[in-house]
Amino acid sequence: MHFRIEDCIAIAPSWRYQGSQQWRHLCGAIHSPSQSIMGELETLSVMGLPIHWGTPYEDWLLERQHRGLGAHVVTLNAEMAMQADNHPELKAVLCNAELAIPDGAGIVLYFRLKGKRLQRCPGIELAESLLQKLAPDQSAFFLGAAPGVAEAAAQRWRSRKPDLTIAGIQDGYFTPEALPALEERLKTLQPTVILVALGVPRQEFWIAQRRSLCPSAIWVGVGGSFDIWAGNKQRAPAFFCNNNLEWLYRLYQEPWRWRRMLALPRFALRALTYSVGL
Ligand code: UDP
Repeated sequence: MHFRIEDCIAIAPSWRYQGSQQWRHLCGAIHSPSQSIMGELETLSVMGLPIHWGTPYEDWLLERQHRGLGAHVVTLNAEMAMQADNHPELKAVLCNAELAIPDGAGIVLYFRLKGKRLQRCPGIELAESLLQKLAPDQSAFFLGAAPGVAEAAAQRWRSRKPDLTIAGIQDGYFTPEALPALEERLKTLQPTVILVALGVPRQEFWIAQRRSLCPSAIWVGVGGSFDIWAGNKQRAPAFFCNNNLEWLYRLYQEPWRWRRMLALPRFALRALTYSVGL
């Protein structure tokens, strides 16, 4: 499912977009990075977007959460970077996230060309590490994917980690009328980790607009992760993952994605022109 930015912004019915300044204001009001913790991560930049690099991300996030500081985690790939390049409102959301990880092969290759060796960190793996490290008195909320999929993903996790507390599950096809009850639920539950699988860029806007409901939670946009945990889709075999070719396997699995994947060569060109100031 591919969303236009305009549609994503329209998802918040009580909220009207009035320019990117509004996003900065909105995000700035709730964004409270802790410099002392942030110090452990190096901030790099690609096309004006931050990428954080350093200590195991899950430890950094849980340490931060322990101190009552929440986080919005962005799993940056070439497609997202290209969308942000054309839409300042998305760029503002990505810039205001406390943590942006190198999810896509294009991002890793870009830094490799610049002499910086980053390890690719797929969002699904960060989400798994976070869930693995949650104590029984901490909890996770699964939000998104088709009806039944988040439930199946949660079921898989229950057998994988019996002491994982799953505070709530909600599919991603709820009506606008159901939204206030969902928001109320999140507010009451205050989960430690909220995984949002609504697709890019809807999930990024959704998190930015609602993270003040659970200010100390770790909010992660996880794309198609529930489909994979539920067993509906497979991740690429190790060879593809280890050689930055996961996108190729995905194209083979979901050939209708070819148009979206053109973002990769476009990103390569744009990232190079951006770095020479064009
Ligand atoms: N999705 C959803 N609600 C919607 C549209 C999409 O919950 O209104 C879910 C969809 O079922 C899928 C996920 O969002 O589980 C997006 O997965 P995809 O692999 O397309 O992620 P992306 O590549 O966009 O990160």
